[in-house]
Amino acid sequence: MFFAVDEIPDADLNFTVTEKKEDFEIEHPDCSLIQDVEVAGTLSKSGKDIYLSGKIKTELRLLCSRCLESFQFPVDCELKSHFVPREETGTEHPEIELSASDIEIEYYDGDRIDINPSVHDQILLALPFVVVCGDNCKGLCVECGNNLNKGRCGCANEGPVDPRLEVLRSLKEKLK
Ligand SMILES: [Zn+2]
Ligand SMILES: [Zn+2]
Repeated sequence: MFFAVDEIPDADLNFTVTEKKEDFEIEHPDCSLIQDVEVAGTLSKSGKDIYLSGKIKTELRLLCSRCLESFQFPVDCELKSHFVPREETGTEHPEIELSASDIEIEYYDGDRIDINPSVHDQILLALPFVVVCGDNCKGLCVECGNNLNKGRCGCANEGPVDPRLEVLRSLKEKLK
């Protein structure tokens, strides 16, 4: 979504847009966008600097790293960006460098800003560090690969790899 800088009033501009999921090109086998993206935000202008704050709502399909099943992951996160005009000389404002600690700086060319790169980055930042379908995901059986969330398989060593069991197992191997 583009906004013409000239059309942002001195008072804040509140907006709500729904962006097509295809526009973000988040289409990986282990992480894909499955809902259009709702952005509710506010743009405020200070000279040529434009501040964006708002909320993003959408939904991803992720792959659980334990059981390898895909699951839906709702995204409901904050959006914050600070847009500054790209300097034609290529030098950046020193004062911006100093204030860049917590808010992402985006550069804009010409007289309009595009909020989608910020939205894209924020969606990916919303991903959990460890992707699991649930805290109680049982994972796959180490022997037969059965998804233990769907039921037991009856294997002797049924269950996800447990380091303590691994020690027992290697002992048993030696005794054979
Ligand atoms: Zn899982
Ligand atoms: Zn099994």
